[in-house]
Amino acid sequence: MPRHDAPDRSSRRHEDPLSGRAVFVAPRRADRPHDEALQACPFCAGNEHLTPHEVLRSPADPAAPWMTRIIPNKYPFAEDLPPIGGGRREGGATHEAGVPAHGVHDVIIESPRHETSILSIDPSSWRASWGLTQDRLAACAGRRDLVWGLIFKNSGTSAGASLEHVHSQLVALDFLPPLVAASLSAAADLFARLIRQAERDRRVVATAGSLVAFVPPAPRQPMETWIMPRQPAPWFHAAGREEVEALADLTREVVARLDEASPGADYNWWLHQAPFAHASQARAVPEGWRWHLEIVPRITALAGFELGTGCHVSVATAEESARRLRRG
Ligand SMILES: [Zn+2]
Ligand SMILES: [Zn+2]
Repeated sequence: MPRHDAPDRSSRRHEDPLSGRAVFVAPRRADRPHDEALQACPFCAGNEHLTPHEVLRSPADPAAPWMTRIIPNKYPFAEDLPPIGGGRREGGATHEAGVPAHGVHDVIIESPRHETSILSIDPSSWRASWGLTQDRLAACAGRRDLVWGLIFKNSGTSAGASLEHVHSQLVALDFLPPLVAASLSAAADLFARLIRQAERDRRVVATAGSLVAFVPPAPRQPMETWIMPRQPAPWFHAAGREEVEALADLTREVVARLDEASPGADYNWWLHQAPFAHASQARAVPEGWRWHLEIVPRITALAGFELGTGCHVSVATAEESARRLRRG
């Protein structure tokens, strides 16, 4: 008989009954090391024995020194559990005990050297790193037990990074977070309009290939920037090589400008895309929908008003933010 009860310290997902918000309870994450407590950085070349075995690396040739490694997170909040009885797990279930937090939770180590900023990575390795991350997301998208994935970066301690060695994370989950589900009800022409208005209001920060980086109309923080394609494209994992390279180049460019405007600013970014194709049949993705990357500098702290309302207060207008990032 299959065991449905997980070991004590495994991650579980609970749903807040008032807001529908999900909370991952992952007791093992309390064991996560912070830089000060470590003898050696587990992400530096030479210390690979301190991390789980990699799932992907760049370059692929194991004889060549690696430039990017993707490894399972040692302290995951979503765990890649074997399927129970070969079927789908109870992804949509919500009850008091929560459900097992099933999914993929990886770390993307973006340099073999102990760098703390993406700006220290040479542009061609940075492009390759994004290519590898896209490959991993595409592999997750092909799995029937997962419905959606997110790539995100926490850069700096106020952005939530526990290790300073430059890295991103990838999660793929068996449910669609309410925030993303809500964005699927956007009007078909919303994304095209966002770009048109950004051009009209001089909020475009930079462009590369088919991608545009602009300050959105309601930035939560000074210099918040979104990057998205000019044409409808629900999935980043299906983007062509040129588009992936353009994203690598634009993330560098925006972070470089942010760093000039506000030296050493911490930031988060995340890449939103539509539910995976096999899951989006159940959830219609509107025509015109686009994957996009949101970069949110951590200039001011999230406080009671933000947590209590989901609203934000920012000291800078969108136009002023764009001006600072455009360098005048
Ligand atoms: Zn390191
Ligand atoms: Zn978004």
